Amino acid sequence: MKTIGMIGGMSWESTASYYKFINEGIKNKLGGLHSAKICMYSVDFDEIEKLQHQDNWNETANILSRAAQSVESGGADFLLICTNTMHKVAPEIEKNISIPILHIADATAETLAKDGIKKVGLLGTRFTMEQDFYKSRLIDKFNIDVVIPSDKDMDTIHKIIYSELCVGTISNDSRDIYLEIINSLYESGAEAVILGCTEIALLVQQKHTSIPLYDTTLIHASYAVEQATS
Ligand code: GLU
Repeated sequence: MKTIGMIGGMSWESTASYYKFINEGIKNKLGGLHSAKICMYSVDFDEIEKLQHQDNWNETANILSRAAQSVESGGADFLLICTNTMHKVAPEIEKNISIPILHIADATAETLAKDGIKKVGLLGTRFTMEQDFYKSRLIDKFNIDVVIPSDKDMDTIHKIIYSELCVGTISNDSRDIYLEIINSLYESGAEAVILGCTEIALLVQQKHTSIPLYDTTLIHASYAVEQATS
C-alpha cells in the first residue's frame, strides 16, 4: 500500500471527514485490521484564511509548499490538498515537490464525466466559484459547462462556509438557504451540483434533495484510496 500525503486543517472539520473516508475506503477494500498509511501536515487555518482575504496567495503558497515538502520527506507517495480553494496555489506547490498532486477538480470532473454530466452547478468559496483555477479545469479538460450562483448567493454561501461550517456550526436555516440555491442552479440547467468546498457535505447531503450532489471530499478521498491500493 502506498502512503497518502495530506495537507489538512483547512478546515480541520473537513480534514476529519477525509481521515474517516480514507480509512473506511481502505478497510472496505482490504478488510480486517487494514487502515490507511497517511502522512499529514495540518496547518493553522486562521493564518491561511487571513492571507486569503488579504489576497496574499503567494504567502499561502509558501506555507503550503513547506507543508508539502514535510509530507514528502515523511514518506508520502502522492499528495492531497484537502481543500478546493487552496488548489488555487497547486501549481506553485507542485514546483516545490517531486511527488504528484492528486487534483480535487480532476477527480471530481472525471466522476461527473463518467456519469455523463455535461452541465453542473458549482458551490464553494467565492474564490472557487468566481475565479478560473477550478472551473477552467472542468471546462477545458473535461468539456463540462459550469453554472455558478448569483452574486448575492455567492456572498451568502461564502459567509456560511467561513463563519459556520469551518468552525463546526451546522444550522437548519443555513441548510435551507443552500438547498434553495441548489434548486436555482438546477433551474438554470445544471444536471447536478458540485459541493466544491470540503465542508459543505457536513451541512447538505443527498438525503436532503433529489438533485444529484457531488461531494468533493468523498470523491477526493475515494480517488486517494484507489491510488494507494493500485
Ligand atoms: N475547505 C474549503 C474548500 O474546500 C474552504 C476552506 C479554504 O478556504 O480552504 O474550499
